Amino acid sequence: MEGLVKYTYPPKKHNKIVVVLSTLAARIGLRKVKRYYDKSLLDFEAPCVFICNHPSFYDAIYAQCTFGRGKVYSMAGRNFFANRTKAKYLQAIGCFPKSLFCADIEAVKNAIKVIRNNGMLLILPEARLSTYGCFEGLEIQTAKLLKALKCPVNVFRLSGAYLYRPKWSKVKRNKGIVDIHIQRLFDKEELASLSESDIHEKLVNAIRYDDFEWLDKNPEITYSSRALAEGLENILFMCPHCKNEFTTVTNKDTLYCTNCGYTVKLNSRYEFETQKYPLYFKNLKEWYLWQRDIMSKVVAEREYAITTKAHLLMPDERLIKGMVGRGSGTVTLDIEGLRYEGIDNGKPMSIFVPMGNIKLLPFECGYDFEVYYKNDFYMFCPKNGQECVKWYMVSELLHKKYENSIKTTEDE
Ligand SMILES: [Zn+2]
Repeated sequence: MEGLVKYTYPPKKHNKIVVVLSTLAARIGLRKVKRYYDKSLLDFEAPCVFICNHPSFYDAIYAQCTFGRGKVYSMAGRNFFANRTKAKYLQAIGCFPKSLFCADIEAVKNAIKVIRNNGMLLILPEARLSTYGCFEGLEIQTAKLLKALKCPVNVFRLSGAYLYRPKWSKVKRNKGIVDIHIQRLFDKEELASLSESDIHEKLVNAIRYDDFEWLDKNPEITYSSRALAEGLENILFMCPHCKNEFTTVTNKDTLYCTNCGYTVKLNSRYEFETQKYPLYFKNLKEWYLWQRDIMSKVVAEREYAITTKAHLLMPDERLIKGMVGRGSGTVTLDIEGLRYEGIDNGKPMSIFVPMGNIKLLPFECGYDFEVYYKNDFYMFCPKNGQECVKWYMVSELLHKKYENSIKTTEDE
């Protein structure tokens, strides 16, 4: 066996001491976040599944803190298990690995094992953090998994979590509010009687969220931070004034374009303000979706491809250092798939991942975009980290284009 299958970390009984210390650390770290939920709804019987949306890095922690110590098992990105020490820690708090956006039979078997052993399982089926504070879709595979698990399914939907610590932010906000909606979605019998597509549709409707709509309904909530807008350039990469890419920069609460000088201020209600320039968008969600609209037209062009020079990172084979640098090369993505031509540990290397295996390329703001393929995990770090969000956006659009092209071919 090669690559990521080496990381076999089956779900293990929680280590009580590690869980108590971790919960304590989480409560201290997130002490400025008020969680609101109906306590009477916390009466769950194992085995069962919790489906949680994924607006922020802390979502699994909010869930663990709400349910109580050491009760819930959770799937976590397989890349986090590339370092043995970190992996043992994650295992001690009830996590087991899952490769993102590709089939992972081991993870499915482990999920079934948790339920058979009368456990509770937390799943964050969106599998990536929200980029702009809203639901961004989930795959039908979650419905398939629920069918296989044959147990009651509950929803744990967070509102406000994105605004406290958005994916792109450099620091936490000074305080935050998280509203938690808890709901029984399916009992065992209903789950058995519904088709996968019906389960999928009900699931989507139950976890769909929009933190900006939530904020509109809560006019008293404000946010402050010494660096409110910092990091925003890593999702807002296109200037609406001059249409240039990668010329946006941020400082404290201000975002401006180095090409044309367009400047906006982010206020305590996550709204943009400007004095000298036209205000193109009310908030970052509108700005982000405008960029995606433009990119969807560009990607629709016949021969669209995106390319960049990037540094390649892969898991340390000895599982000690986590992700390690392997060399640099050129990455290209088009409707056929992703190609990397470059160097791996001093030797020439080429990788090809067909588009059928790329639902999307998850990304870390300003740092990398990633792909799992054939039991391996590749992280590409472009020289200009601002490009990562564009790769994420384009990969999703190209995959849709690819799926449509298959459908068209089948119809002919
Ligand atoms: Zn500009």
